[in-house]
Amino acid sequence: MRTSYSAIQTYLQCPQRYEFQEMQKIRVPKSREAIFGTLIHSTLHFMFKQDPLFPTLEEVIAYFREHWPDLETFNKDAAHDALKQPWAEEDEKAYFEQGVKMLKRFYEKNVPWNFHIVDLESRFELALTDEKTGETHVAAGIIDRIDKLDDGTYEIIDYKTGKRMPSQDSLDQDLQLSLYSLGLQKRWPHLKPEDIKLSLYFLRHEEKLSTVAHQDTAEKIKKHILKTIADIQERTKAGKEFEPIPSALCNWCGYRPMCPAWRHLYKKETSPLLAADGADAAIEKYFELKKAEKQLAVEVKILQDQIKAYMDQEHLTRIFGKDGTISKKLIQRYAYDLEKIKELLLPFNKWEAILKADETKLKKILKELPEHIRNAIMETRRVAREYTALSVSTKPIEKPQENATVPDNF
Ligand code: SF4
Repeated sequence: MRTSYSAIQTYLQCPQRYEFQEMQKIRVPKSREAIFGTLIHSTLHFMFKQDPLFPTLEEVIAYFREHWPDLETFNKDAAHDALKQPWAEEDEKAYFEQGVKMLKRFYEKNVPWNFHIVDLESRFELALTDEKTGETHVAAGIIDRIDKLDDGTYEIIDYKTGKRMPSQDSLDQDLQLSLYSLGLQKRWPHLKPEDIKLSLYFLRHEEKLSTVAHQDTAEKIKKHILKTIADIQERTKAGKEFEPIPSALCNWCGYRPMCPAWRHLYKKETSPLLAADGADAAIEKYFELKKAEKQLAVEVKILQDQIKAYMDQEHLTRIFGKDGTISKKLIQRYAYDLEKIKELLLPFNKWEAILKADETKLKKILKELPEHIRNAIMETRRVAREYTALSVSTKPIEKPQENATVPDNF
């Protein structure tokens, strides 16, 4: 299988998106963030590719302006009419100005160009063999920039246009950068991991965060990619669903109108499986009943308290009505001294048998653990039981644009 780090990440964030993008190869218009990021990257490429005759700041801004998609082209350029995400004039202006600001600051910081660029938008391919299956897969990628430093070592620079900057701890464990360092070592095998500096350049904040490559993170990325590929292949072979995982990322996902987690907002379907008056009526009724269920639970609790108080006062353990009997029972939950129990059970090899991982507690502490431990824990997961459940949310969801409907062939 041929893949890339970003495809692997897409799968882990949302298998459904991976299926649309990588397997069904459905093209959707890029989000404005993606258009912005791509153009900033190509402008930086323009800035450096003429080394040593670097362009003036005016030339750089002119390049950015020339390649900026005008509103009409952008809104017409959608691969599929149904998936248009129109860009309002004021948004376009804000993005453009943000880009000019970023480029100006970056340019001023780079003068007088005393660095040594070895390659730009450098492509690499890595062959990874899965020892369990003997299959070889290819992980491909593009490195934004490679510099040679004064001490003879190399620096990989990846530009970021987003807001969020990672902690040093997660940067030290960054698998994408580790994959890039493997790509560089494949090109020049004499390079040791410690000869490669790995940097993320946050253009919005004018901040460069760096770490060095490590052999163990390189091993981790290989394992991570192979494990995810095995997961994808297993899912495909078993005919399992690539389920959608709704998250904040949906706001930038062009597959929303065809995604099972959102499609209903765009296209109301009728089905004999629902009440005769259709999905809207069934959904409305469901909400009504859920509300009544909640109200009933409150009323049941009030009655329970009144009945308990009555039985206590009258010293009754059972009371009778025309529909049945209500019994009062003392229920006790015990807390054990686990240290003492451990001493008692260990000689019988029974201690392990009573230890059970508690998923809720595990989830709670997960956030406090370093990223590599979190990843290692996640790798041990397996599905123990599978079932579907309905959950409800009363959070308002923004309705799609009037013209954003899904065609019948979806
Ligand atoms: S809209 Fe959200 S849930 Fe659906 S494919 Fe895109 S990212 Fe996944």
